[in-house]
Amino acid sequence: MKNIDTLCVHGARDVHNTTGAIATPIYQSATFFHPGLEQSTGFDYSRLQNPTRQVLEKTVATLESGLDAMAFSSGMAAMSTLIELFSPGDHLIASGDLYGGSVRLLNYVAKKNGITVDYLHTGDIHSLKHSICSSTKAIFVETPSNPMMQVTDIAAVSKITKDRGILLIVDNTFLTPCFQRPLELGADVVLHSGTKYLGGHNDTLAGFLVINSQELSEKLRFLYKTIGACLAPFDCFLIERGIKTLALRMQRIQESALKIAEWLSRREWVSTVHYVGLPSHPDYEISCRQASGFGGMISFTVDSAETARRILSGMRTIFYAESLGGVESLITYPILQTHADVPEETRTALGITDRLLRLSVGIEAAEDLIADLEEAIR
Ligand SMILES: *Cc1c(COP(=O)(O)O)cnc(C)c1O
Repeated sequence: MKNIDTLCVHGARDVHNTTGAIATPIYQSATFFHPGLEQSTGFDYSRLQNPTRQVLEKTVATLESGLDAMAFSSGMAAMSTLIELFSPGDHLIASGDLYGGSVRLLNYVAKKNGITVDYLHTGDIHSLKHSICSSTKAIFVETPSNPMMQVTDIAAVSKITKDRGILLIVDNTFLTPCFQRPLELGADVVLHSGTKYLGGHNDTLAGFLVINSQELSEKLRFLYKTIGACLAPFDCFLIERGIKTLALRMQRIQESALKIAEWLSRREWVSTVHYVGLPSHPDYEISCRQASGFGGMISFTVDSAETARRILSGMRTIFYAESLGGVESLITYPILQTHADVPEETRTALGITDRLLRLSVGIEAAEDLIADLEEAIR
């Protein structure tokens, strides 16, 4: 396999394009005519397949070492489709610290449809083993988790899921295939919010499911064409274009994130820094083993809610905004934004308080980002 830096730039090729165009054409067509009776060009209707989307899907499948990838209109659209694999009476186990929208989907949609969910720290292999029952169908892991940066040993969990014949689903949004490839570690499904690092420019929503089994691919392709939450051709073009610089952006973002995390660790108004790239992080060793990088997400707890509010109102370069993974640095207040719908007792137990801030480091100069934080606190 080529180096991932090269794969990001070259991706898959559009075999239908004979013009020599370097950029993938945007096939803005809802439907495709048939060359003859019972014949097909391979494309019939864009909810099922579209040439621009096919190039993007093959690129993402290659990056994640998958057999097939499906591009959705958002990360939540990908997850909603995935959840349709399960039936009333099925039981799921999910990381306790999960993207807020995923918790909302599991608690208010999946549960209503008769699926039960237990949340626990999936990094705790012992309690994970004991929570599996005869109706458990899948373990859903986010690693590093959002926003507390808890790490789960993917290979260790996959040993358990393979043993029990259940699915291991990993949300790989935070580290991207540049730094972590869960399918290679034994996961069955990789989920992405392509809105974040893959797209990388805070301009498009997208989601992905990547799998490496033919059987699962067929099941999910059936749901994909039936539910219809597919990604539009122009958005496919934008995400593919974003992926070309993914490796470059991830390197820069990670370098800056480490500098900022170290700087934060030395401030007296910061009580804790959660960044998986700091050797002081409790799961630093697992991260080094299963990932080739630490990404650009940092959470930190400050000394008071007042300090948190002062930072949020004082930012000039870093935007106070939801989302992450783009070229622009964004700061989030999880308690009021991404995790507002997570039950309060869950939030408190995890440490999602009014003193917790989450920073998505962008590609600006690290010194300017540090200066922005410093001035806000003054
Ligand atoms: C944003 C996000 C999602 C949801 O994706 P959307 O594209 O916003 O629908 C899922 N998981 C994680 C980790 C995310 O950050």
